[in-house]
Amino acid sequence: MAGRPARAATRNAEPGVQRCINVACAATYGLRERVYLCPRCGETLEIVCRLAAPGGPMAMRKLWSSRRALGARSEDARDVSGVWRYLEMLPFEEDAPFVTLFEGNTPLYDAPRSAAYCGIASLRLKHQGYNPTGSFKDTGMAAAMTQAMLSGARTAVCASTGNTAASLAAYAARSGLKAAILLPRGQVSPSKLAQSLDYGALVLEIDGNFDACMRLVEELGGEPSIYIANSINPFRIEGQKTVAFELIEQCRWRVPDHVVVPGGNMGNSTALGKGFQELLSLGMIDRLPKLSVIQAEGAAPLAHLFANLDLKKQAGREPSIPSKLEPVHNPQTLATAIKIGAPVSWKKALRAVLRSGGQIISVSEQELADAKAMIGRDSIGCEPASATTVAGIKKLVATGHIARTDDVIAVLTGHALKDPDYMIRYHEGGLSSDTGGKRDLAFASALRNTPKHAAATKAAILSSLEQQL
Ligand SMILES: [Zn+2]
Repeated sequence: MAGRPARAATRNAEPGVQRCINVACAATYGLRERVYLCPRCGETLEIVCRLAAPGGPMAMRKLWSSRRALGARSEDARDVSGVWRYLEMLPFEEDAPFVTLFEGNTPLYDAPRSAAYCGIASLRLKHQGYNPTGSFKDTGMAAAMTQAMLSGARTAVCASTGNTAASLAAYAARSGLKAAILLPRGQVSPSKLAQSLDYGALVLEIDGNFDACMRLVEELGGEPSIYIANSINPFRIEGQKTVAFELIEQCRWRVPDHVVVPGGNMGNSTALGKGFQELLSLGMIDRLPKLSVIQAEGAAPLAHLFANLDLKKQAGREPSIPSKLEPVHNPQTLATAIKIGAPVSWKKALRAVLRSGGQIISVSEQELADAKAMIGRDSIGCEPASATTVAGIKKLVATGHIARTDDVIAVLTGHALKDPDYMIRYHEGGLSSDTGGKRDLAFASALRNTPKHAAATKAAILSSLEQQL
């Protein structure tokens, strides 16, 4: 490993605490206490790290970049992992049993066609779908499974039908823990389970709906051998916040004007906001990028709430967060990764957006589908939820929130192959909204690209090529 961890000489106590986000409660708990929601008031918890940058911001930058340089030539988790490289910012000691599948280290792509589509001079896409299991969940799971090992758990449990399940299954297998995934029987597409099965997780089909699975997970949290890795787990946010550090490093420490993310359960926006805030508090950046969150129209409870906030009242003050969010009881979107009507981390995400001066808006299924195909034209594949970002940026340019020359980065959350069926249906013109029994709404596929028939001759192929050009 390059250099000694900066923290070792400066800290005697635990490297942070778990704190209730309810300002009126603000109860704190030790890092190794197995609590998921505040036992006093039931609110979610967040980790408050004891941050320090010994030697100053430049020394920290150098340390992180020297670890990155060692990268593939090293076996140390702090060199190969895009999470553990930033150990000084995380609530773990240097002798923790770091779980890693070499997560992070994801590309930051230039996307000129998508930029023109949005009406801006340039756009970069940070692709978290290039993580080991194909989604942004992996950075958080590396931290959560390391915490599970420290807590002495033997089994990690979650209720999820998609990316979280795949990530948990992989990281539990890597840490030697059993993984159990709870699903509502008969309501889950087998293709979504493929990864979890392959990683050897115990997949339990429960007689009941998704809410029943969630209740069971909460009940299981009382068992000493079981560790809960659902969205309420604050250690996942700690792993995910490293995306902010990696992103700023890739920008050579020049803070972009805007960072735009999809909004489902809001863990992603919470984590990025926390990461940027921590860099600012250490003097490693001089301002926050404006953090904006884009939801799908049929699953947009936070965008509805945001539209009714008095932003003038919030300006220049510590954000005042409403106590309740009106959930969407029957969320509808083909972007299944963000088909969430009652996001767990909405308060933390809203606080981060308000502090940064960003926006929370929604986009239609049509806007989302065309934006996804446009990202594809930039030779970058992503799952549908990720494309809310480009659709949202186009809208934010139209409203003047984003200026033509602003430096804009969108975070893509999942790999294209997470949902190939969506792409085929778009390009064959068969994509329609899932309205749960009502009349389906078929989409126009503006960027449609269907397979063409050609005779088995050189002339026929050359003729097809000419037509294409
Ligand atoms: Zn509390």
